[in-house]
Amino acid sequence: MFITLEGMEGCGKSTQCALLVEHFTRLGFDVLRTLEPGGSVLGKELRRILLDPANSDLSPVSELFLYLADRAQHVGTVIRPALAQDRVVICDRFADSTVVYQGYGRGLEPSLLRQLNDTAVQGLWPDATVLLDLAPEQGLRRALTRNMRENKARTEGRFEAESLAFHTRVREGYLTWAALNRERFLVVDADRTPEQVFAAILCGLEEKGLV
Ligand code: C5P
Repeated sequence: MFITLEGMEGCGKSTQCALLVEHFTRLGFDVLRTLEPGGSVLGKELRRILLDPANSDLSPVSELFLYLADRAQHVGTVIRPALAQDRVVICDRFADSTVVYQGYGRGLEPSLLRQLNDTAVQGLWPDATVLLDLAPEQGLRRALTRNMRENKARTEGRFEAESLAFHTRVREGYLTWAALNRERFLVVDADRTPEQVFAAILCGLEEKGLV
């Protein structure tokens, strides 16, 4: 089974990934937790390049091809082999992030991105995609608090440079894209405690016949 989590920074993806891993492990599954960008050996290098604030002048198209290279390598060398061994794969961001961030966020054509994603994933789409929906103001507040708590000068990620308008487009893009892909998406209100959000995720997965 292949489950992906999507949403803006601060929406609680990492926490919910950990809870899902714990849940499926308890059920006796062999679980792989992975992420994009950075889920393969090549991907780790690409993640460093993509999230380095020094590279904030990357054009949207250059950025797009780096994300796609990350994904193609991740699917080929990590995700597909894990699924072939009957493992449950929980992935923090996947192809939908590209449609939303590079498409709705940075203005590239979402339908073109869908096609390029098809090439990158070679037919491997998730069984379910959980969208943790949160107002952008709140996501940014949470992400900033987390970084301050971890005393991180945010060497990773370029979110502080992005405007609220960008994150608003991302949020709306996610909701639009989820509505266009209803059979796979599960939209969960992330403005609740982690336990409540997790309960809603399990409930949605159950409705899809996946747990
Ligand atoms: O998953 P995480 O929150 O660590 O995301 C890393 C960063 O990469 C975020 O700042 C997100 O905005 C950015 N990103 C992006 N385009 C993607 C995937 C992630 O801009 N396709």
